[in-house]
Amino acid sequence: VDRLRFGVDLGGTKTEILALDGEGRELLRERAPTPKDGYDAIVRLIRDLVLAAEARLGRPGTVGVGIPGAISPATGLVKNANTTALIGQAFDRDLSAALAREVRLENDANCFALSEAVDGAGAGARAVFGAIVGTGVGAGLALFGRVWAGRQLIAGEWGHNPLPWPSLAELEAAPRCYCGKHGCIETWCAGPALAADHARATGRDWGSERILEAAAQGDEAAEAAYRRWTDRLGRSLAHVVNVLDPDVIVIGGGMGKVARLYDDLPSLVRPHVFSDEFTTPIRPPVHGDSSGVRGAAWLWGREG
Ligand SMILES: [Zn+2]
Repeated sequence: VDRLRFGVDLGGTKTEILALDGEGRELLRERAPTPKDGYDAIVRLIRDLVLAAEARLGRPGTVGVGIPGAISPATGLVKNANTTALIGQAFDRDLSAALAREVRLENDANCFALSEAVDGAGAGARAVFGAIVGTGVGAGLALFGRVWAGRQLIAGEWGHNPLPWPSLAELEAAPRCYCGKHGCIETWCAGPALAADHARATGRDWGSERILEAAAQGDEAAEAAYRRWTDRLGRSLAHVVNVLDPDVIVIGGGMGKVARLYDDLPSLVRPHVFSDEFTTPIRPPVHGDSSGVRGAAWLWGREG
């Protein structure tokens, strides 16, 4: 039986639903604005999107939902969500009740890693580390084609480890992080961190895109900022390799779109890896911005 899988990606401004067949082909995709008027409206929107999609396709399917947050194993309630209407809600149970079936819920970074592990840049690999480098730095982890969320549901949250192998200057300049600590990987390797580092060095208040453009056109200060940023990201990924030694590293988020990153990173990771060889592929995502919603659909795997 060719089963139908629905994936829903709940974002801060839009909510997307997608239907995949058993081969991962996209049968339908719809978007709606994420309601601003509270939690019940979000539950109703997801229910209505699924029911409308089933009516159009003429058969029922499984439902997986990616959210910017996690379900606390201690309380069963959503925590760490930047769509704050979800915090403290039993979102998985409420969606399951609204749709009269079990609904699987997962952190959006884990959905990204899963999507790339199932049929993306890490297809067929045992261990896929899906880094998301954008306005923040996070990651998801997929092992043997399934999400590995971890005991605290924080597997992959390496953005709040300290920047590894820091120079004295980096120790002294360590930026304050919203998490309460200083010098987290996120404060050095996120997109805004590139801009802040470049501003400290040059006094120019440029965004990361402008810096990358200027670097490509031969601006020396912008190029130097790019090199410091890639070196820090390389060290940070070496930390991951030394702990997990994944088969594939995929870099999503806005900064993962920087094409030259994939040429530059391996030689910056290699010197810090505790091994005489380093061959781990570091790749851009195959599914791009669709990885979150595809991964949500794949929460119902080929076996279950
Ligand atoms: Zn932090």
